[in-house]
Amino acid sequence: MRVAVTEAYDLVVIGAGSGGVRAARMAAKYGARVAVVEEFRVGGTCVIRGCVPKKLYVYASRFKDLFDVAPSFGWQVDASFDWPTLVANKEREITRLEAAYVAGLDGAGAELIRDRAEIVDGNTVRLVGAGRTLSTRYILVATGGHPFIPDIPGRELAITSNAAFDLRALPSSILIEGGGYVGVEFATIFAGLGVAVTLVYRGTCVLRGFDEDLRQGLDAGLEARGIRRIYETNVDALRRQGSDVVVSFGDGVEAPFGAVMFATGRTPNTEGFGLEQAGVRLRPDGAIEVDKFSKTSAPTIYAVGDVTGRTALTPVAIREGAAVAETLFNDNPIAVDHSLIGSAVFGEPEVATIGLTEDEALTHGDIDVYVARFRPMMNSLSNNPARMMLKLVTLAETGKVLGTHVLGPGAAEMIQLAAVAMGMGATKSDFDRAVALHPTAGEELVTFKGPSYRYRGGVKV
Ligand SMILES: Cc1cc2nc3c(=O)[nH]c(=O)nc-3n(C[C@H](O)[C@H](O)[C@H](O)COP(=O)(O)OP(=O)(O)OC[C@H]3O[C@@H](n4cnc5c(N)ncnc54)[C@H](O)[C@@H]3O)c2cc1C
Repeated sequence: MRVAVTEAYDLVVIGAGSGGVRAARMAAKYGARVAVVEEFRVGGTCVIRGCVPKKLYVYASRFKDLFDVAPSFGWQVDASFDWPTLVANKEREITRLEAAYVAGLDGAGAELIRDRAEIVDGNTVRLVGAGRTLSTRYILVATGGHPFIPDIPGRELAITSNAAFDLRALPSSILIEGGGYVGVEFATIFAGLGVAVTLVYRGTCVLRGFDEDLRQGLDAGLEARGIRRIYETNVDALRRQGSDVVVSFGDGVEAPFGAVMFATGRTPNTEGFGLEQAGVRLRPDGAIEVDKFSKTSAPTIYAVGDVTGRTALTPVAIREGAAVAETLFNDNPIAVDHSLIGSAVFGEPEVATIGLTEDEALTHGDIDVYVARFRPMMNSLSNNPARMMLKLVTLAETGKVLGTHVLGPGAAEMIQLAAVAMGMGATKSDFDRAVALHPTAGEELVTFKGPSYRYRGGVKV
């Protein structure tokens, strides 16, 4: 077959998600000739089936909590929920965002090619649908990841987060396997929308790797929301029974559910498009190995975002994409600093965190820990017993804030601003210097008196 080689580019980006779009726009603005190849929808996971639709569904699910406390403020509410309306409105919003991404690429002068890309070699990309190739100085792989599905009998009967956004109808019950943030967020979304939710996880508590107080507080919040948790258990098999899916658990128990969702992690998209033949080395977990400038083992091929298995978050992919554009096309080599990245879990309660957990901080020497627990003011007129938690972990010797952890309404917004202070190396006395903003929950972070407890020589005192 004769293959036509078309126009040469400075950069061909594979994947128009968070990282790829940012790199493409910036590189084009710096004068590079850029093409972006996307096989699905522009905007990638974040816009189409990640952060954006997820947060919209979180908002939808939280009305239940507002309705619950409404009578204590004198409101009587007779509310009902319509799932197809939410799905349709979500679709309209992500379509609007997708168009804005397309316009952004166009405005910057980057060419968008809707096709599947394969790497032929370090300077050549093949368009699978069009059957032509592009020659380029550099290739940026920003292909993201996809949900991992355990290899068990009946796996095809389960959904993942991809399909969960567009279910034709809400099931009456759902089993979610996974204790990470996607599992927790969908558990609280579905529960808030009236679905009976069971969460099964092989670990001892949700959110492995988070501060223990956040994990336990969240677990209690899930309990309060009526979400059943089954820990230290796996799903072994699924089978269809009428309209239900019957789940066989690792302990031999069987139970039917209206739907089953796997939230068992994500796999980098590195297979089947020529990476290895182009000399791009993969790590044992399948992610692309990169140096601090996001350069792969092939000298003209770079990679950013989830496909590199560093920190799988949108703002990180964006930073990495921007850094590649700066490095290659603005004579300004930038290595992204991954050491202090905040993250949030939009469950119920919401949790957010930045820096070291209490356990991690202990490995750095003596620490002081400041903890506040209280009922959010919003609940004070009702009998809703939910409590918030705010926690600062500081180095005893210098007072440097090593970790900030918040559980409760507005946690993510608070951590976003604590990130500024911590990025500047703030100490406890820097926090104390800030005048409280009252009445807020966040004021607790700047009004702690003595530590709630201390660790000296690794021992709690
Ligand atoms: C349910 C869910 C909720 C999330 N919530 C949050 C959140 O609240 N906050 C947050 O920061 N992050 C969140 N994330 C993570 C976030 O979405 C990702 O970290 C981010 O989208 C990664 O961007 P990326 O550029 O690496 O890849 P992606 O955005 O995944 O983009 C990759 C693109 O490459 C395309 N592609 C793949 N292979 C090819 C090929 N061979 N040819 C052409 N195109 C190809 C894909 O179609 C896709 O559009 C969430 C993720 C999920 C799944």
